[in-house]
Amino acid sequence: MALPRRSIGAPWITVSRKGALRWENGHPWIFRSDVIDPPTDAGPGIAYAVDQRDRPLGTALWSPTSEISLRLLDRTPDAVIDDQWWFNRIRMSVERRSDVARNASAYRLIHGEGDGLPSLVCDRYDRWLVVQLLSAGLEQFRPAIVRALAELTRCEGILARNDASVREREGLARETVLLSGEVPEEIEVHEYGVKYLTAPWTGQKTGAFLDQRENRHRIGVLARGEALDCFSYHGSFALHMAERAATVTALDSSAHALSRAQLNADLNGRTNIEFVEGNAFDVLREFSEQSRSFDTIVVDPPAFAKSRSSLNSALRGYHEINRRAMSLLAPGGYLFTASCSYHVTKPLFLEMIESAAAASGKRMALCEIAVQPSDHPELLNVPETGYLKGALVRDLP
Ligand code: SAH
Repeated sequence: MALPRRSIGAPWITVSRKGALRWENGHPWIFRSDVIDPPTDAGPGIAYAVDQRDRPLGTALWSPTSEISLRLLDRTPDAVIDDQWWFNRIRMSVERRSDVARNASAYRLIHGEGDGLPSLVCDRYDRWLVVQLLSAGLEQFRPAIVRALAELTRCEGILARNDASVREREGLARETVLLSGEVPEEIEVHEYGVKYLTAPWTGQKTGAFLDQRENRHRIGVLARGEALDCFSYHGSFALHMAERAATVTALDSSAHALSRAQLNADLNGRTNIEFVEGNAFDVLREFSEQSRSFDTIVVDPPAFAKSRSSLNSALRGYHEINRRAMSLLAPGGYLFTASCSYHVTKPLFLEMIESAAAASGKRMALCEIAVQPSDHPELLNVPETGYLKGALVRDLP
């Protein structure tokens, strides 16, 4: 074979025709079922993939215990995956964020496969970074990644929120560890002039829901009258709506989340936000019984469909919460509604809101369809990079 052996000890792995086709179509994963005679003695790290005629396919991350065996890094068969390679790939990702950085100090720097850096996530919170290394192959390059990030961003600290459950499937420990410098318990960030506190060590995801930033700004501009933020978490949508609405009700089932939302309201000097602790399904029903209505509503629930098997019950949940929210809209009012369930595809989501609109008995106009923001790139040929979708709808009296 003509392949130079660039990485000492790196295995050459034979991939089936079906697996090779996946790569040709732009999807970076090769599943275990498409690996022919997987090596039993090769630890995680770099591997060279070849087809059944020993023709080189590319250089990949190899995860021996995972269902996703190979994640393509570079189509160049003799690519050298060294510190410089990581630096260059990470630099491209960081440079793509220059627009986002104009309006916010917290955003995603690396969205894994979406940025050509499979299984690597990195979020920026002002002068600090939070990373997630989500595959065994990637873990081998932790020092190179940390060095590149530190140099490119001049950050003061890097935290690994490696507590995600997918690490178990890779045979990796779940842990939260400091990788470089220092990272505070709490970081104040801003987006479109709104300030909020993030909790990198303990908050959901890497400390905040960065993926809704543009949608928060959008509904903030439209908000008026009485506004309602369902599934408010730390009050991020509520804070944006409070700029133009007369009053905002921030609703969440978690008292702790609402206490953080109160701190954020204080940070912004907002006194027009009321906090309601309760189950959104019950509280919305009670609001209907009290004949209350709202001029602006946000519905941003957690992922109801955690797996394909829970899809149908999840869709019923989304339908109910959306129907109730639509019913509560005042004439001419806006609703922004979202789903972050990967299994609820865009067509299913649209079907669900169409049916919720019909069941609400109102004339509801579809104004905008929201996709992921540019710092969470969703690749059309890699569906796994997409999960968040939303819609702006309006009551037409
Ligand atoms: N909109 C937020 C993120 C929402 S995360 C943002 O932009 O940052 C989902 C939130 O829903 C969590 O805070 C969770 O506590 C809350 N939650 C989950 N189930 C709920 C329910 N049945 N009723 C009300 N809140 C719920």
